[in-house]
Amino acid sequence: MNKACGNVAKPLFRIRKLNVWYRQGRNLIHVLKDVSVDIPERTLTVIMGRSGSGKSTFLRVLNRVIEIYRAVVNGEVYLRDQDIFRMDAQNLRSRVVMVLQRPIALPMSIYDNIAYFLKSVKKISDKKKIQQKVEEALKLANLWEEVKDRLHMPASSLSGGQIQRLAIARALALDPEVLLLDEPTSHLDPESTRIIESTIMKLKDRVSIVFVTHSIEQAKRLAEYVIFFENGRVIEAGYADEVLEKPRTESLRKFLGLE
Ligand code: ADP
Ligand code: MG
Repeated sequence: MNKACGNVAKPLFRIRKLNVWYRQGRNLIHVLKDVSVDIPERTLTVIMGRSGSGKSTFLRVLNRVIEIYRAVVNGEVYLRDQDIFRMDAQNLRSRVVMVLQRPIALPMSIYDNIAYFLKSVKKISDKKKIQQKVEEALKLANLWEEVKDRLHMPASSLSGGQIQRLAIARALALDPEVLLLDEPTSHLDPESTRIIESTIMKLKDRVSIVFVTHSIEQAKRLAEYVIFFENGRVIEAGYADEVLEKPRTESLRKFLGLE
């Protein structure tokens, strides 16, 4: 296998020859091309690349949300040793949880925005248990202090940065193995971005994180492992100190502004 793919001894995800096409009318648009790469366990992996390079599409494959897009997908994706395409999709999506670029707060209270998922997905009905999980998730997402006195106010009263952390809390309440974050700070101000970044750094020891960004500075601040996409292909992948410090390809050197 190509060394550029960054082999990992016991990967969380093992992706081989992944190809994805979107349908546009009668045509198929080839968006991910022969992607073979590993993603390590309990690591903050940053997916970087220019807009349109296929980062979001790649993330959508990891929990099979791609199926909603009527895309054509082929290749192999293993989560630990399980073929994700043979897993129950709902089960996969409760283990590999995605936080969208612009998450929405459901039209209910801050508390219910989390409690709702505990009841519907985790089938928890015990009130005390729900209370405890809501508090724990909000603490993990660094939102508790800001909302603890107004848990029963509408979630729509929160700021953009707070809604992003509410979405992270909602995801964490499901006890996922993997958290997928698609450019979670692209619409936030620097202070909200800083809070999200410190939240992510704090979480990386308890959950594997795959974080998409087009920002080089953000990648440098966060990444332990890096996957660089260009035009639907993985150009380089590996541990951040190697890949970001000593990029081997002209493409990545250009992207990083080194030549
Ligand atoms: P990135 O997240 O890196 O910006 P995307 O994965 O969103 O890239 O998109 C990769 C390519 O696929 C782009 O050319 C984009 O226009 C195209 N694309 C994305 N979503 C769709 C879709 N639902 N239908 C058709 N083409 C799409
Ligand atoms: Mg995207």
